[in-house]
Amino acid sequence: MTRTALYPGSFDPVTNGHIDILRHALDLADRVIVAIGIHPGKAPLFPFEERVDMIAAVAEEAFGADDAARLEVISFDNLVIEAARQNGAAFLVRGLRDGTDLDFEMQMAGMNRSLAPEVQTVFLPASPEVRHITATLVRQIAKMGGDVSHFVPAHVVQCLSRRLG
Ligand code: ADP
Repeated sequence: MTRTALYPGSFDPVTNGHIDILRHALDLADRVIVAIGIHPGKAPLFPFEERVDMIAAVAEEAFGADDAARLEVISFDNLVIEAARQNGAAFLVRGLRDGTDLDFEMQMAGMNRSLAPEVQTVFLPASPEVRHITATLVRQIAKMGGDVSHFVPAHVVQCLSRRLG
């Protein structure tokens, strides 16, 4: 039986923190689906297609071709549990950085469990060296011309400077 995990988020852009969680998710699951949430009315920095390309490029570099082949990127604009069901995912992966993440994630996991008892949520703790990283701050620092090379892969640094001029 193929064990499929769904890792939902914005990935705008993918950071070293996301890559850390993905690495552990690939250890737990045979197939990992990165599900990029599309919210009408909320303008992302990077269009969906570019976020997909960045994830594919950095996955190949970070995990190697074989493991990267077990990873897939999709978009979803419905409930995350519906996206999990549609893609045959038995569990959702979420990263935990701190107590704030935990409080919010516990609420979501509880609600999702009520809505879809067959879909389990698995929390993965952030590794110490990446737990401070958030995509929101990466975008803000990059917009102000700061150096984000400690927070995102080199490929993403290039994409950021291209997009922000
Ligand atoms: P962010 O919160 O950085 O804007 P997302 O909304 O794309 O990123 O987050 C998707 C998932 O990745 C969430 O479960 C979030 O907790 C997790 N995540 C994001 N950054 C990190 C990190 N530095 N370490 C561990 N998990 C992270």
